[in-house]
Amino acid sequence: MIANVSTSDFPEKKLSDLLSQIYQPARIQILLIIGSQETCVCHIETVTGMRQASISQHLMILRKAGLVSTCRKGRHIFYHLTKPEVIEVLQLAANLAGIKPDSFLALSIRPIKDCSCPQCNPNGDPKLTCKKVTQSNS
Ligand SMILES: [Zn+2]
Repeated sequence: MIANVSTSDFPEKKLSDLLSQIYQPARIQILLIIGSQETCVCHIETVTGMRQASISQHLMILRKAGLVSTCRKGRHIFYHLTKPEVIEVLQLAANLAGIKPDSFLALSIRPIKDCSCPQCNPNGDPKLTCKKVTQSNS
C-alpha cells in the first residue's frame, strides 16, 4: 500500500506525498465528480466508464489520504470530500494547465443522462437505484 501519508517533518515531502495521492487522472476526475455533493459509486461509474473495482481502489487511496469520507444511507454508500478546498487547488492547477473553465466544470455537472444514482433520479425508487453499488457491497 502506497497510500500512507508520511509523518516526515519536511514540508516539501508532505506536499509531495499529498500530491502523489491525487496525481492520477482517475483520482483527479473522481474528486471533481464528487465536488460539493455526496456521491455514490454508481454515479462515478456512469461518468467515468471505469470499472467499479478500480473506482473503489482509487476511493480507498483518497480516503486514506483524508480527502474523502463515506456515509451510509440505507443500502447506499455515499462519498463526500472532507476537504472541499481540494477543488480550489485543482481549479488553480487547471488554470496553470490551460484548461478551459467549461471543460473543468463539465466534469462535475449533474444530472447525468442514463445514470441510475439517487441524485440523478431524485424521484426514482431508491430501492431500484444504485444496483451496482449494492451488488459489490457484499
Ligand atoms: Zn448519477
